[in-house]
Amino acid sequence: MAKIKKKIRTIKVDADRCNGCRMCEVICSAYHSEPKWSSNNPARSRIQIIRHPLKDIWLPVFAGEYTPAECMGRDKYTIDGKEYEECAFCRASCPARDRFKEPDSGLPLKCDMCEGEDGPLCVEWCLNDVLTYEEREEEVEEELEQQQLDIGLESLVDKYGLDKIKETIARMSIKD
Ligand code: SF4
Ligand code: SF4
Repeated sequence: MAKIKKKIRTIKVDADRCNGCRMCEVICSAYHSEPKWSSNNPARSRIQIIRHPLKDIWLPVFAGEYTPAECMGRDKYTIDGKEYEECAFCRASCPARDRFKEPDSGLPLKCDMCEGEDGPLCVEWCLNDVLTYEEREEEVEEELEQQQLDIGLESLVDKYGLDKIKETIARMSIKD
């Protein structure tokens, strides 16, 4: 099977340094507003801070993949004596909660690493050095890439229907 090179982009999170200032949420939501920089609503941010000031908990979590169905079981973590809420570490946009959904349309949000910029803006604007950006190259099998694309498209078709997806792609092509 043919192998292709894939760029892996990672943001390392040193959660112990986070003080919950939420600058990352502000900059991400402003960057992703339409038009860009026109508004700021942290509910639209692709990074969200789990905050429990009384328990001294500040945990940055990035929006990951959309999932059409909620899990049958839930995870609950206790770390260093601090108990985190159920699903606190999960990155999915999921039917079980409002996190990582566009507040007006309910469409799933996913971190795109600020595609088109020199680097992730949340990393640049976090003044406490919580977030560190890294890039590396890995060889992956071409078929695996195609499978991932198929899974992603199937989940969108399940949720929005084929016609809506076609309309959206047509709209995006016109913009390009
Ligand atoms: S900007 Fe940095 S310190 Fe502030 S909430 Fe985000 S990750 Fe935490
Ligand atoms: S990398 Fe960009 S899109 Fe992802 S959470 Fe940070 S600011 Fe938002």
